[in-house]
Amino acid sequence: MSLFRREITVCSLSSGSAGNATWVGDRHAGILIDCGLSTKKIFEGLQEKGLGDVPIDAVLITHEHSDHVGSAAVLARHLAKKRGPVPFYMTRSTFEAAHPNSRPDGLEAIEAGSPFRVRHLRVEPIPVPHDAADPVAYRIQIGDVSVGIITDLGKPTALVGQHMKHCDVLLLEFNHDEEMLMEGPYPLALKQRIRGSHGHLSNSQAQQLLSMGLGSRLKHLVLSHLSDENNSEGRALGAAFQTLREAGVPINQKEAATGQNREGGVTVQVARQRVGLPPFRVEAREW
Ligand SMILES: [Zn+2]
Ligand SMILES: [Zn+2]
Repeated sequence: MSLFRREITVCSLSSGSAGNATWVGDRHAGILIDCGLSTKKIFEGLQEKGLGDVPIDAVLITHEHSDHVGSAAVLARHLAKKRGPVPFYMTRSTFEAAHPNSRPDGLEAIEAGSPFRVRHLRVEPIPVPHDAADPVAYRIQIGDVSVGIITDLGKPTALVGQHMKHCDVLLLEFNHDEEMLMEGPYPLALKQRIRGSHGHLSNSQAQQLLSMGLGSRLKHLVLSHLSDENNSEGRALGAAFQTLREAGVPINQKEAATGQNREGGVTVQVARQRVGLPPFRVEAREW
């Protein structure tokens, strides 16, 4: 254990079918999770959020859908030129299933359930049910702080719930409202795919998973991967508030916009498509 305290920053640059990218790290090391935005937008987004000079020691990919891996090839070349080669971590099946134009030059192959390290960050890939070759969610541990990035899964699983219990910050999918999806404009086959056990979490499935995975460390809950067509921020927030209230967890919306949580309880926010959210900061106390 070190005497130093460190501030961990978590920043969603965009969340949803328009593209996903999240940066997690401290001043010494950092990783990007998914790169479904263009390389230009990723760097513009970091700059706008005051993170223009943060380290990117690795890029972690959850699965091969273009809203998660779309710019990997371009980003890999860009990073190599500007900062030297950066490893791209994903399962071998994800790499093979990715569009050839999206594949980065090199691959650091990972396996769901086998943790690995990127500098002092411990990363645990968690298997999730989704219509992709070998998709994972990630839990990232820096010191005693844990961040869960849990999106693109068709149903709650006990394993994901267990990992969520350790998290200080949770980016959790609240993809669609069942009623809005079924009454909405999508063709029936697509509605069935989204609702299926390998599709996306509805608000009520996210509620179930949240109650399974609610732990005493949770400080920030970020509702993620919302559908523009089949959900509303009001419905997703209402669902999250209901679950937290039922579990007796105080909701701290006073500090939600500040990115800090000094007063306890849980802040709840929605990560938007294309614009994400301002960064969150959580202090790590143990190393
Ligand atoms: Zn997605
Ligand atoms: Zn997906």
